[in-house]
Amino acid sequence: MFETLHKATLDKIFVLMAEYAADPRSEKIDLGVGVYKDETGNTPIMSAVRKAEARIHENARTKTYVGVSGNRGFCNAIVDLVLADSVDRSRVRTAQGPGGTGALWILIQLLNRAKPGARVMISDPSWPNHWPMMELAGLTPEHYPYFDPKTRAVDFDAMLATLDTLGPDDIVLLHACCHNPTGANLTEAQWDQVAASLARTGAFPLLDLAYLGFGDGLEADAYAARKLASSVPEMMIAFSGSKNFGLYRERAGCAIAIARDEAGADIVGSQMSNVIRASFSQPPDHGAEIIRVILEDPALRAEWEAELAQMRERMKRLRVKLAEAIRKQSNATDYDFIAEHSGMFSLLGLERDVVERLKTEDGVYMINDSRINVAGIPEDRVDALASHLLAATRQ
Ligand code: PMP
Repeated sequence: MFETLHKATLDKIFVLMAEYAADPRSEKIDLGVGVYKDETGNTPIMSAVRKAEARIHENARTKTYVGVSGNRGFCNAIVDLVLADSVDRSRVRTAQGPGGTGALWILIQLLNRAKPGARVMISDPSWPNHWPMMELAGLTPEHYPYFDPKTRAVDFDAMLATLDTLGPDDIVLLHACCHNPTGANLTEAQWDQVAASLARTGAFPLLDLAYLGFGDGLEADAYAARKLASSVPEMMIAFSGSKNFGLYRERAGCAIAIARDEAGADIVGSQMSNVIRASFSQPPDHGAEIIRVILEDPALRAEWEAELAQMRERMKRLRVKLAEAIRKQSNATDYDFIAEHSGMFSLLGLERDVVERLKTEDGVYMINDSRINVAGIPEDRVDALASHLLAATRQ
């Protein structure tokens, strides 16, 4: 049986994580892995999460199945959080997925049922899992222009020009905020233009929302989702609770579909359940239940929002500090974009050999496309990191 198979390559991030772990240098810096870290390098359990877990532990009376579409309280709270009153709820259906990836998987399975083999436009570059996920689902991925490596900003004219050529048979995957890997994002005015383009062409938006609250705040980061929901007749959103609730391993995600009307929504909802039943039958409950408890309790919710704000502010501060340190040392503004980007990542636009040199000579680890996780910037060694970056790019 297995003789027909080749060895599959692992996502490069897992290889890098192993290399970092094996590096004996004490001054090594991990800007690679895509998880939030505090100043001690730990990915903390949020205090609201600990309290919600204690409450669940105290009150839970059963571990029986929760249902094919998952924890309904969780899904409803996520729709409130993401969409607020931007869309009539009779048109919305949800299902819980195992993480944001699981939510995305449910949605693209459904899209491939609706339009087998349809073209899915993906930003260039994008989260490395997007392309293979589309292929595995049977869809046809293609890139639209997004990041300009010269300005390290979004090449919005090129992006919009491509979106304008699409039609009702096309799907467009958009990062709702905190673009991964680039950190370069659309302004609200640019989202308005994207919404107008999609409404005009009929292309179908699929939003990946993995970092709500990591960019400019819960409301600001929901702008794209709400704007599109109020502008187009049909769309989908894959929400992840991994980063903003720090629940990575608990796999809490929510698949949201918006249909033209209630009858259409019922069909989409039934199809989501059907996909889930044949895929993994039911999602895991623990992470979703934690999020439900937090969002439904005003005190826990306030505590979570405050902690999320602290994480966001810390990442912003690290961005500004690194950009300032580089400016001070080089007298040039080349790296100011780091402070202008938002979310957890920035794509530095370095050549592969420079990235390799930073790793081998200085113990500075980043993904080989030069994506850095800003939460990994050591606050007390920002100057050292700045000089490593400058030295490596000068060689
Ligand atoms: N989309 C993007 C853009 C991501 O960066 C991630 C996490 N790396 C995900 C989706 C999925 O997150 P998870 O499955 O861990 O919830």
